[in-house]
Amino acid sequence: MHVSIIVPCYNEEQNIEAFYEETRTILNQLAMQCEIIFINDGSKDGTQRQLSRLHDKDDHCHYIQFSRNFGKEAAMLAGLSYATGAYSIIMDADLQHPPELIPKLIEKAEEGYDQVIAKRNRKGDNVSRTFFTNIYYKCINAMTDVHFENGIGDFRLLSRKAVNALLNLREYNRFSKGLFSWIGFEAATITYENVTRAEGDSKWSFRSLLNYGIDGIISFNNKPLRLAIYGGLLITLLDFIYIFVMFIQTMLHGIEVPGYFTTIAAVLFLGGVQLIAIGIIGEYIGRIYYEVKQRPPYLVAYSTKKKVDLK
Ligand code: UDP
Ligand code: MG
Repeated sequence: MHVSIIVPCYNEEQNIEAFYEETRTILNQLAMQCEIIFINDGSKDGTQRQLSRLHDKDDHCHYIQFSRNFGKEAAMLAGLSYATGAYSIIMDADLQHPPELIPKLIEKAEEGYDQVIAKRNRKGDNVSRTFFTNIYYKCINAMTDVHFENGIGDFRLLSRKAVNALLNLREYNRFSKGLFSWIGFEAATITYENVTRAEGDSKWSFRSLLNYGIDGIISFNNKPLRLAIYGGLLITLLDFIYIFVMFIQTMLHGIEVPGYFTTIAAVLFLGGVQLIAIGIIGEYIGRIYYEVKQRPPYLVAYSTKKKVDLK
């Protein structure tokens, strides 16, 4: 019985040492064997040097080196597929996920839960980011079938069963928050105080968060397409009513020439609606395009751990 800690890293040179020390201390207190698997997601700083140093001094500390930056989703997937533990715990390298929670996560898992989710409050977070996040969660929950909860990220423990279920989802466009919820299983939640990043900056800009948000909505169902259909139907209905009213007016009072405003308004409005609808369709086609190429989600340049198939 052992535990795998999975840590995606992208330019985390300044955090790795501290993260390792803190986590190691906690892991040493456990009665279980533990491995730490770092995934170096194409870092451009000295992350690789740090990781190889840690591997040299600790046999149970491994790293997987990507050939370039593939994103955190890919890094988590790689970590999960290399993990051999009965439990896998996904953590950030910036110490925003407190290692002190590891024993608590394991304790819950021993009670029989397949997912133990660590939920944070948003204390100390950027005000505008919190504001938009709140709105976003309202929208995404209204628009998708799986449930998303504010404050829940990737910090969680997964049982072997849950890990295997995730590994069986071979989609290219991965949106883990949704996949975790999609696989189901018994889940327990524990809460913790929000911590701000130890060193360096978050890799998320407003734009990347917005794109991530759209990904979340589009990856999980075809409701946006439905919305386009309903929108189209509503506008058609309004058009009919308008045409009918205009027809009656023309019949009774003859043609009034000044119609410039209505014409322009209709052209602009319908143009906008059509572009949005085409955009939505385009998003789905784009995803199909990436999916049919069947490219691997990541490429491993070097790994200190052999991959074993536990499925
Ligand atoms: N990360 C990664 N690849 C990326 C971006 C981020 O592996 O392309 C890692 C990063 O090193 C960190 C975790 O994902 O361990 C979370 O990133 P970050 O702290 O920037 O996100 P935030 O905490 O602001 O959501
Ligand atoms: Mg962070």
